[in-house]
Amino acid sequence: MSDYVRKILSDLGVDAAALRDDARLRGDLGLDSTEMTQVEIELNERFGVRVDLWGEEDYELSRLVDAVLGEQAAARYRERGWWRPELLDELALGGHPGDRVALVADGRSTTRDELDAAVSGCAARLAGLGIAPGEHVLVQLPNQVQYVVLVLGLVRLGARPVLALPALREHELDPVLEAVRPVALAVPARQRRFDHLALAEGLKDRHPSVRRLLVSGGVDPERGHVDLDALVDGPPVPFTPQRRAPSDIGLFLLSSGTTGAPKPIPRTHEAFGHVIRTSAEVSGLTAGSVYLAAMPATHSFVFGHPGILGALVRGGRVVLHEPHDPAATLALIERERVTHCALTPSLARQWLTAADTRPYDLSCLEVLQVGGARLDEDTAARLVEVFDCRVQQVYGMSEGLLNFTRLDDPAEVVFGTQGRPSSPGDETLVVDEAGRPVADGEVGELVTRGPSVITAYHGGAAPESFTEDGYYRTGDLVYRDPSGNFVVAGRVKDVINRGGEKIPADELEALVLRHGGVRAAAAVSMPHRVLGEAVCLYVVGRDGGAPGLREVRRFLEDSGLARFKLPERLVEVPELPLKGVGKVDKVRLRADIAARLAAESGAPGQGVSS
Ligand code: AMP
Repeated sequence: MSDYVRKILSDLGVDAAALRDDARLRGDLGLDSTEMTQVEIELNERFGVRVDLWGEEDYELSRLVDAVLGEQAAARYRERGWWRPELLDELALGGHPGDRVALVADGRSTTRDELDAAVSGCAARLAGLGIAPGEHVLVQLPNQVQYVVLVLGLVRLGARPVLALPALREHELDPVLEAVRPVALAVPARQRRFDHLALAEGLKDRHPSVRRLLVSGGVDPERGHVDLDALVDGPPVPFTPQRRAPSDIGLFLLSSGTTGAPKPIPRTHEAFGHVIRTSAEVSGLTAGSVYLAAMPATHSFVFGHPGILGALVRGGRVVLHEPHDPAATLALIERERVTHCALTPSLARQWLTAADTRPYDLSCLEVLQVGGARLDEDTAARLVEVFDCRVQQVYGMSEGLLNFTRLDDPAEVVFGTQGRPSSPGDETLVVDEAGRPVADGEVGELVTRGPSVITAYHGGAAPESFTEDGYYRTGDLVYRDPSGNFVVAGRVKDVINRGGEKIPADELEALVLRHGGVRAAAAVSMPHRVLGEAVCLYVVGRDGGAPGLREVRRFLEDSGLARFKLPERLVEVPELPLKGVGKVDKVRLRADIAARLAAESGAPGQGVSS
């Protein structure tokens, strides 16, 4: 127990000497009921911490300490002006002339005033459906106007949107619904031949919290669906929001998952507002900017890092585009005079290929923000050459820390590093396995805390993702180069980064093991020309032999796994190579598949075949 905690407890008149380190307030302290209430009152009065010691069986001391420290940090962030008394919908839509165009989608423009009115109308109609402040709604929509209006409408109502990638399926969504217990799901009826409504119906059947399906693009009123298009596009109705506080949760993002299922990330208005403002600033967004959402807009990179909200906050214009074909995207950039766009390195490479096939006038492009996965120097340089714009590397995470190279950085920084924090308040440490800071230039895990960064997942999930001092463990291996920028050198977490989409290896392995023909399995990344990394699955078969790649892909898809997580290659082996402690030697497997690929392409490889 830290001295600090001792002091808190002794201030409260609690006998700290009688406490063990893992003391639980109710059980081990043996407080009687009057004392418990007194402790609650004093914590609130002295530290501004509201805890409900009665609400649970036992209240862990560590949680109390987190609450006290969290409240003190919050007071500091507010004092420094990092967290401001702002609400996300007002931040996005206030502050600029109302007749400016805010959104363009499918050739239709919406002004700021029109968007604001649509958001209010949507909030009023959501309230009319019985959706109440504090309730959760899972939003799994493509890049369309309905998405932006619904999310901001929910925020205005005080209800909380949970932003989920349209590519997620039952396997990822079941645990998310379990965790957030949404009262409604917002989905397209179909998307790219996929029957999204059937997915939502299944989720609704399994999760009794879900009362409503809000469906865009074809509803069946007989089945009780709510017409999302009408909800968003209805007549203007005045709406007066209930009192909301900047410290309230405005929305939830989903972690890309370092292990298992995606975890809900609560973002308060004031913390997310800080992220949006600071990242919009370093991205050079202004009232004259035109931001293209060309990747799924439910991802934080596109929605608020700085993305759609960042462009709106600065008074700029947002163009929504449902991504399907890079050539169509380039034509849209030309037509809408887009200045800013966020993309992954794999999408960037596809753009380069598309730009080769016919000329486009892309002189409007000012900044291409590339992140989600490591950008190689060659692609970075080609982007500058072909698109004649600035490249900005973005290394960030939905948990809040965002690093950017700056627009006026020298070429070696822009091409060779992943940047530095956009927030002046975010602290970063590069640490060794024991959690000790390493020297600059040495590789270690990046941990971070500050006004941008969450201190816990929803419901306290995965507490091991945070250190005792409240740092978030990124799971990324980085070093700080002499210019003070980070270079991402690898990762501690066992995740495959397939073109910016993250695939936790353990999740895939656990599912594959359910196949009757598989005795052991290990998923590793293999090099891929466009995606950077793709999934290679090593399997040990049972007596009848291992199933083939097609069979495994079908099995995984039938199990409700998102398609982007399916393996591209399967290698059957008699045994998995193990390391001393009995763990699968993935370094060896990665070297093996790299060598096989190199041999197939005739290039020299250096792997060890298993
Ligand atoms: P997400 O929360 O889905 O945005 O994923 C965050 C993770 O993506 C980070 O922890 C990194 O592992 C990875 N990532 C994001 N940007 C970069 C980048 N520029 N270079 C390398 N890895 C990145």
